[in-house]
Amino acid sequence: MNVAVVGLGAMGANALWRLAERGVSVVGFEQFTLAHPLGSSHGATRLFREACLEHPDLTPIAQLAKTLYRELEEHSGEELLRITGGVMMGAPDSDVIAGTRAAASAHGLALTDLSHAELAERYPQLAGLAETDVAVLDPGAGVAFPEPTIRAAVDRARSLGAAVVENTRVLAVEPGDDGVIVRTATGEWLADRVILAQGAWLAAELPWIELQPIRTPMTWFGPRATAADGASHAPSDVAAPDATEFALERLPVFVRQLSESEVLWGHGTVGAVAGPEKGALIKAGVGDIWQERVRIDPEQLDRGVTPADWRQVSALLAKAVPGIESLPARVDPCMVTISPDDQFVVGRSPRHPRVIVGGGDSGHAFKHAPALGEILARFALDEPQLVDTAFIDPARFA
Ligand SMILES: Cc1cc2nc3c(=O)[nH]c(=O)nc-3n(C[C@H](O)[C@H](O)[C@H](O)COP(=O)(O)OP(=O)(O)OC[C@H]3O[C@@H](n4cnc5c(N)ncnc54)[C@H](O)[C@@H]3O)c2cc1C
Repeated sequence: MNVAVVGLGAMGANALWRLAERGVSVVGFEQFTLAHPLGSSHGATRLFREACLEHPDLTPIAQLAKTLYRELEEHSGEELLRITGGVMMGAPDSDVIAGTRAAASAHGLALTDLSHAELAERYPQLAGLAETDVAVLDPGAGVAFPEPTIRAAVDRARSLGAAVVENTRVLAVEPGDDGVIVRTATGEWLADRVILAQGAWLAAELPWIELQPIRTPMTWFGPRATAADGASHAPSDVAAPDATEFALERLPVFVRQLSESEVLWGHGTVGAVAGPEKGALIKAGVGDIWQERVRIDPEQLDRGVTPADWRQVSALLAKAVPGIESLPARVDPCMVTISPDDQFVVGRSPRHPRVIVGGGDSGHAFKHAPALGEILARFALDEPQLVDTAFIDPARFA
């Protein structure tokens, strides 16, 4: 059996690794360089949660991913996933609180309720919840590191004999009775199976699923006293915050639902924070229920930034994390690819048994990437799955 993987981003790099780990002959194609900033998997961090709000069957996938992150760390010697704990905040019946509790109780995960006083004591940067809101600590949450994870997966696969063709776009995939022909501008390969893991570019390949690539900017903000010009912008009645308060160790992953349609997520600065001059930046974004979903062509992604890219997140930060600058220090466009039911599209194509699909990330796939790679490898090799994959089966859209 030999397998071709098209796209070496989050899902494809990990599929390549999991196939190579089994001794399968595998070749991976990436149109750009590895871990590039032009798709969906750049920007240094992604939130990791086991108590996944988005679907009850995601928890076993997150747990498998965690095991595989640790395995990959052993091979790479690099940290790929840091568990910090996560603070979930909102009304008791909000999606964030009710969803976290439902996922935790379905899978026996422990959560800790934090009173307003405990929240203020442990995480003063997040204090100031509405009277009726609650805070829940999820000890299994943290951040994954996307670029090193992709590099580690491809490096490990290469060391096991996988072939990697970078800076080469796959122009055509032609499945037939005897195999699948994969064509690039410089050659063609015949594979027994092909895995299509093309992120935002997958939408054009699978017109029978309404995959919607959307532009999703990432934003980083500094504490008020650490604006880029070095001047303190704290109003005179507000003490300039200590930059170390915003280090990841002190300000872990948080998700706060401020109203039915407003969700803010973020986390503190990753790495040692020596002081304002080192540019302590917290990363924050809005949940996609608050975003306008405008379908884009990934080839035409607008990389210019405008205030529209940070207005919403800045407004929510002002309410939820006082002490943060209202203007971002860094903005970086990214993309997610939304499926019609906001779940991944991972499994055998109903159109051809030799084609395996890995996409439709719907904005929450990175944390699961090593497990999605394992799932894709199992589909390619006709091995039974370790976790339930019916809810992400591409056939649901056939
Ligand atoms: C702002 C933002 C915040 C996010 N936050 C989180 C989070 O907190 N937690 C979380 O779990 N997830 C999060 N996500 C989602 C997560 O990043 C994505 O789900 C994940 O990165 C998608 O991976 P992918 O493999 O589908 O796509 P990608 O990683 O983009 O990989 C697709 C690859 O295919 C290549 N390719 C495409 N076509 C071809 C071709 N014809 N030939 C060769 N190569 C090709 C592309 O160049 C690319 O490298 C976030 C995403 C964004 C944008």
